[in-house]
Amino acid sequence: MWNSGPQTADGGRQVTDRGPIPSPQSPVTSVDDSLESKIAGAVKDLAPVMIGFLQRMVQTPSLPNAEAAVQGIIADQLRTLRIAVEIVPTRFAELADHPAFGDDGFSPDQRINVVGIWPGDLSLGGGQGSLILNGHVDVVSAGDESLWSVPPWSGAIVEGKLYGRGSCDMKAGLAAGILAVAALRQLGYQPAHNICFQSVIGEESGGVGALTTIVKGYRADGVIVLEPTRQELCPLQSGALTFRLTVRGKAAHAAMKIEGISAIAKFGLLYEAIERLDRERHERYANPFFENPVNVAPINIGTVRGGEWHSTVAETVVAEGRCGVFPGESAADARRLLAETIRMVAERDPWLRQHPPQLEWFEGQFESAQTTVDHPLIRTLAAQHRRIHGAEPTIRGVPYGSDMRLFINHGGMPAVHYGPGDVRLAHAVNEYVEIDEVVAVAKTLALMIVEWCGGVTKVVRSA
Ligand SMILES: [Zn+2]
Repeated sequence: MWNSGPQTADGGRQVTDRGPIPSPQSPVTSVDDSLESKIAGAVKDLAPVMIGFLQRMVQTPSLPNAEAAVQGIIADQLRTLRIAVEIVPTRFAELADHPAFGDDGFSPDQRINVVGIWPGDLSLGGGQGSLILNGHVDVVSAGDESLWSVPPWSGAIVEGKLYGRGSCDMKAGLAAGILAVAALRQLGYQPAHNICFQSVIGEESGGVGALTTIVKGYRADGVIVLEPTRQELCPLQSGALTFRLTVRGKAAHAAMKIEGISAIAKFGLLYEAIERLDRERHERYANPFFENPVNVAPINIGTVRGGEWHSTVAETVVAEGRCGVFPGESAADARRLLAETIRMVAERDPWLRQHPPQLEWFEGQFESAQTTVDHPLIRTLAAQHRRIHGAEPTIRGVPYGSDMRLFINHGGMPAVHYGPGDVRLAHAVNEYVEIDEVVAVAKTLALMIVEWCGGVTKVVRSA
């Protein structure tokens, strides 16, 4: 049974503990070589079981509004590890007044988030604070299944790669987080600061699941969002705002084209101006953490539906797109710039001046976000990555929206993306994740938990 009853006032929800943060110079537990090798051993031992768990997650499709089955699997797995599970339903009525809420159009009735709480014991000392490990279970459609070399819901493993929709984005991240927790459980670890594991719904369509956890009061001193980053640390992200543009023309028989006004032709003017805006915005923006300076926060028109019939001058065009938001730029400013561009095109065109295009913002409204790269959360995670890989991690900004911005902008928590898999494979045919990467991330996360959350293990105590 899920604990779906009403929460008590404290309910274990407040993940940030209020006690003094011990001096980092005197940790009770910090990872030494012996503990590091024990963690590596425990992760290796448990990996086959957890890869089986990842397969089960992939074999359980979790398209938006149908996430409950996979959430049940995750809740059961956490309970097996003796982690207290709280079931947190997403109810739009409770989010509607929040500035970051976007109704994603899916019924919330069956949509639950799973939160696992591993309470800290502050008397143990050490560490820097509490930690949330967060991932989303919702996946995008598999598309044309005949294009896949293995069935998209098979979770098939071929040459060290686990295939399937959601494998990389981002059930692998969730599996890596749970594998880290399992390894530390096996070693008898007890954290000083709370650890909170979150499996949320609705990320792909705007983040109603993560927003629910924030509105419900779950907090921590650091958040790792386990999105696929190829094990790069990504504490900066661009935003993305979905928009719809409706352009009206005047229908006429094609033989009397001169009598009509083509909405397609008018849309063409707008399209050119939007492309120019995209180029100019990137020329003005410089940020060394982004891989490609001309692709930080792109504006893209994704769909255009126009015209009624081949021999009619088109009366209407409806285009939908996504407007990027640069880190440091507000969503309101990005919206204003696009609206202004459209207004200026309309002003110069006699027809559009009389019949201004209509711009609407709908569905996903992802703000940009950033945690400073020298924040202790980033430095501590980078140090654990270095231990596992013997090399500095790459620190990068990502050009896509995710739940991270909710934690930073609306939860007031420092956050970073870090996880297995390549985002280039996400949403694509033959999506997969390398199993070795899942295991490596689990090791890094286990070290991170010990360093960040302090506490003790029965196996190793170092002064
Ligand atoms: Zn994702």
